[in-house]
Amino acid sequence: MEVCDERVCGLFKRRSPKNVAHLRRPFGAMKSLRAVDHGFRSPGCASARCTRGSARAPRRGESRARSGRHDRRNSSAASDVASATILDYTSAVRWARATVRGRGAHYAVPMHAHRVDVQAALDGWVEAALEGESISREDALAILRDESIPLLPLVHAAGRVREHFFGRDVLIHQLHNVQSGACPEDCGYCGQSQSSTAPIQAYRLRRREEIIAEAQRAKENGAYRYCMVLSGRGPSDEEINHMAACIREVKDRFGLRTCLSAGLLDEAKARRLADAGLDRLNHNLNTSESHYGEICTTHTFADRVNTLSAARAAGLDLCSGLIVGMGEGFEDLVEVASRLRGFEVPSIPVNFLVPIPGNRVRESVVAGRPITPRLALRVLCMFRFVNPKAEIRIGAGREGHLRSMQALALHPANSLFVDGYLLTRGSNTRDTIAMIVDAGFEVRLDGDWPEDLARFVAGLKAGGSAAFDIDHSGEVIRDDRRRVRNARVSGEDTPAALSVNGVAME
Ligand code: SF4
Repeated sequence: MEVCDERVCGLFKRRSPKNVAHLRRPFGAMKSLRAVDHGFRSPGCASARCTRGSARAPRRGESRARSGRHDRRNSSAASDVASATILDYTSAVRWARATVRGRGAHYAVPMHAHRVDVQAALDGWVEAALEGESISREDALAILRDESIPLLPLVHAAGRVREHFFGRDVLIHQLHNVQSGACPEDCGYCGQSQSSTAPIQAYRLRRREEIIAEAQRAKENGAYRYCMVLSGRGPSDEEINHMAACIREVKDRFGLRTCLSAGLLDEAKARRLADAGLDRLNHNLNTSESHYGEICTTHTFADRVNTLSAARAAGLDLCSGLIVGMGEGFEDLVEVASRLRGFEVPSIPVNFLVPIPGNRVRESVVAGRPITPRLALRVLCMFRFVNPKAEIRIGAGREGHLRSMQALALHPANSLFVDGYLLTRGSNTRDTIAMIVDAGFEVRLDGDWPEDLARFVAGLKAGGSAAFDIDHSGEVIRDDRRRVRNARVSGEDTPAALSVNGVAME
């Protein structure tokens, strides 16, 4: 068996007992794996003996042989791989496993055995994404379900794509529920549905002054976009007129970009909103077509698609995403990602189900398992690779499902909401801005920062005691603790920053 002399090649490492110890299996078993390893070459190997040499990475759909990466030394193994693309990670792993089984081994190929491939596959995905291409359905599924794809390299790879299209900017969105509750639809995840017994605050369409006051607050919070949401199946003519007037005023007075979510719309109504200056219409697909009947029976997936088509025909930008964790499978998540790609949706909110007592769907479960922060990251990475040019927004459930990994999620995603969601609290603006700045990203703003936020950000960037001078002093923390203690004693509300999953603790 020939091996590569180059240190950069994975084969080189296989020669040393020290380097194979971490494979956690009897060393003798390595012999059967060498041929497998040989089929997958390390990127960047420049050994004269290594035929892969300086050949470029194959493009998607192109074989190694065409790209000059064919491994001529490795007889049968190489000929199998030559007919596959390096981007098809799933086939490569399947092939490797089959080969090992064929050789009588009784273990699956661990991550280390195809470590070299994983990096090559990640590089291939990045290369495709930078050209605006999507990865294959199989690879998208592998990102979600194959835990041997290491998380940090995956996040880093998705971050390379995000940086290429969006730099280090993070867009902040602020939601305002301008009409809440009393909705005749039966969406099982929504506390505003009449079928839900969730104890929400229901109110009719807000007055113009209230909507404008919220827009002003969004502006003061450094929001890039002001998103207004109406409960209900769809807006009446009067509601359209009211919202059109509000949109005009928000644009004129604050220059904020606007987004409206108003249920099902036809093209005529969408056009009236577009004429008023609305930038974007939000209408989430929410889940896959095949799973849609499980979450709602009063309208169909096709109704949702028709609304997107109407908005597009009216010249509105589209914003459409999903809610992860409504009992769907990985295939459903990939299907939604690819449907959104088909629509070339430029803005994709990825929400994670916030379980609200009283709703029909209240177990946040994907493929029969609860959402973990690691899975939430994988979902965001998958969306980045399927929709490389889209604004991927971390939506509801950021605090509860990503938890301590929220900052990592800024690598695949490039926007988020602050100050809560439709019915649940989220982290406040300053904590979110601090997370963004601490992770080395920039909050993107159209226009100037409000003065106090500018001081806050400057303090964070200065680091050291300057950051504590703003409002992270020990005194403030002690104050907060007192407030929590007092609130618990008196039964009052707790501070938003102490909420989990968007729902206040205790
Ligand atoms: S998601 Fe919209 S349409 Fe469905 S119940 Fe809630 S408010 Fe009504």
